[in-house]
Amino acid sequence: MWTYQHKYFIVHQLPVLQDNYIYIIQDRHSPVVCVVDPALAKPVIEACTQLNITPTHILNTHHHWDHTDGNQQLVQTYQCTVVGNQDDASRIPYIKQTITANSNFSLGHLHIQSLEVYGHTLGHIAFVIDDALFCGDTLFGAGCGRLFEGSFAQMWQSLQKLAALDKPTKVYCAHEYTLVNLAFAQSVDADNIYLQQRIRNDKNKRLHKQPTIPSTIGLELQTNPFLRPLDPKFCSTYSQTHAVETKPLQVFTALREARNHF
Ligand SMILES: [Zn+2]
Repeated sequence: MWTYQHKYFIVHQLPVLQDNYIYIIQDRHSPVVCVVDPALAKPVIEACTQLNITPTHILNTHHHWDHTDGNQQLVQTYQCTVVGNQDDASRIPYIKQTITANSNFSLGHLHIQSLEVYGHTLGHIAFVIDDALFCGDTLFGAGCGRLFEGSFAQMWQSLQKLAALDKPTKVYCAHEYTLVNLAFAQSVDADNIYLQQRIRNDKNKRLHKQPTIPSTIGLELQTNPFLRPLDPKFCSTYSQTHAVETKPLQVFTALREARNHF
């Protein structure tokens, strides 16, 4: 478990399954404790016992089992409230507090903004709390989620919303996929010096069994191939070498398709 201090809350990061992260957000000024995307209950219960805290809420970004399978046991253990997108209510187990995809709500002293980020699924939302982003399977370290339900255009729109957040915003995504994503990034953006630097840093972190997550929006803007279409120079180079239109959506689409076969 790793712990990160924010001004109004503390984030605990739990590695589970092969490469998932569960996050526990602890409000500094109220008893509110939110568990984000519990793939499993047991590691959360163990962590909370160790920290002497009690989950009050579960925040689900989307319906996939490796984000919601812990809901049942956590609700039964703590009577905590499952919060999720009203449009996904039929697919999120034990959901109790439904919110609209784009909304603002408060839990304790946590002011939470949810953003509609459809693409990986139709119903996927992201949570922004001050300078922290919990984006599930939409934006990854140097990557983005696969398109299971949405279109390329929807995913591109969703990624642009996340890219518009303040650069120091911490990116707490749900999987440790960074190194394989960086290998793909290297294959399409080899001259990027920020990317070279990140590859060195993140390889070193993994070598020492440290997470590469959270990253920041600023770092993703510099190095994530799926945000690089925001840079016209990148689009023009990519379109020349890969025979696609220079428009950002066309470049993003070509990159996402290439990543599927990488
Ligand atoms: Zn997923």
